Amino acid sequence: MERMTASFCRAWAGVVCVVLLWAASPAAQQRATQHTWGERPPSPQTAHSRLFTHRAGMPAEPIEHVIIISVDGLMPESYLQPDAHGLKVPTLREIVRQGAYSEGALGVFPTVTYPSHTSMVTGVNPGTHGIVTNGPFAPLSNLPGAMRWYAEDIRMPTLWQAARAKGLKTAMVYWPVTVGARANAIVPEFWRQDPGTPEDVKLNFAISTPGLLEAVARRFPDFRAKFLPPRAQDEALTDIAVHVIENLQPNLLLLHIFDVDHWQHEDGPFAGRALAAVETADQQIARVIAAVKKAGTWDDTVLIIVSDHGHALTKQRVRPGVWLREKGLIALDDKNKITDWKAYVLPSSGSAYVYVKEKDDRETRQVLLDLFQQAVANSATSGIRKIFLHDQIVGMGGDPQAFLALEAAEGWAITGGARGDAIAPAVEAAEHGWPPDMPAMRTSLLLYGPGIGHGKIEGARLIDLAPTVARWLGLKLEKAEGKPLQVPLRDAHATQIPGKPAP
Ligand SMILES: [Zn+2]
Repeated sequence: MERMTASFCRAWAGVVCVVLLWAASPAAQQRATQHTWGERPPSPQTAHSRLFTHRAGMPAEPIEHVIIISVDGLMPESYLQPDAHGLKVPTLREIVRQGAYSEGALGVFPTVTYPSHTSMVTGVNPGTHGIVTNGPFAPLSNLPGAMRWYAEDIRMPTLWQAARAKGLKTAMVYWPVTVGARANAIVPEFWRQDPGTPEDVKLNFAISTPGLLEAVARRFPDFRAKFLPPRAQDEALTDIAVHVIENLQPNLLLLHIFDVDHWQHEDGPFAGRALAAVETADQQIARVIAAVKKAGTWDDTVLIIVSDHGHALTKQRVRPGVWLREKGLIALDDKNKITDWKAYVLPSSGSAYVYVKEKDDRETRQVLLDLFQQAVANSATSGIRKIFLHDQIVGMGGDPQAFLALEAAEGWAITGGARGDAIAPAVEAAEHGWPPDMPAMRTSLLLYGPGIGHGKIEGARLIDLAPTVARWLGLKLEKAEGKPLQVPLRDAHATQIPGKPAP
């Protein structure tokens, strides 16, 4: 289960002040008209032909549809330097050529999947929205393999709630932390055990919009073979999104695909099967664009490609819970079952939180401080290179309930549990979860559509995504900690969007 937990990642600052009118420049027109178009599905030619019709005097449509595709673990290098890795990613290349892109947006702490995806849709840090790790707080280890599945645990308003409140159509496809969320079409991310079974998939059908997955399975005959959570292949999840786009035309669609993350964990970034996974993800983005065009809503759609974190290679792992057990802070019975605890380590691979059960237990706090300060002094052998105290954790947007946070040394991953050896070889080739300012943890961000201009987005943060979408769709997210990004826009939209009220 640990393996699959890792496979689910198991895990923007200054705002540019000038709206770029790049598309209006003669150079841009020349560049666009000189481009040689291929035969692949997304066919942005149509979009840009329409764009120049707009520029010739037709009024542009306001943005009424936003599609967010989260390509879990996608590293910005995948679209900034595809040739360096021989990647066939025609859609990503086209989006970089025509759309807006970040060279690496700032994620949240810890840089793992569930906290990050929840920050994308709330505009606040994990310490504020409450989804502070992938796995639930379970010091007695009584929730093996569980994740923070449930939308009811999100403490802040989400984009889908704000969109529904305005009467907009919403859809979520395998977006983390959406079990129990309300939407016009929903397939929450959830699994019961690893590997999944056809019997367990009945539960996925039961918690999804009635009839939706049955209809997708009728349309795409190999869907059931590719949808077996926790293995739900990108192609199957995109099948759902394509069906929803063509039949519902949602104003807000959130799609989460994660084969890139899975294979980067297995083989490392830009290595082995991870390369093919990036190319597969590119093909799924093309399918989504084609579906939007078929649905007739491309003119007023913005497509956002985003990722939740990067990846870094790991060779060894450290299990600090073993040290806590040796210090008498965790009690086990004769069957090695945890019966009581004074301190608890909740890991996120590249980092971990340390909790103390009793607030006034000064003795345990001192033991933990001594233990981990000594570990940092010997980071080459302990695998822990830094500790963060409570106020630092709060300053990073982390969990205010934690006593300490640990940062793994380069090449090391922090894992959970209190049994076995404290130090062992890594189980995954690559991991994430380090603080978001580590360069390898930077996230992908691309925006594309008839209304989006070409250019670089500077200083982007994951927490800026929700306020940006809220502004475009006219939604209220008043408590957001992020700010709307200043995205380069095509001229017609440029005159329109600043008139919309900021969230
Ligand atoms: Zn992830």
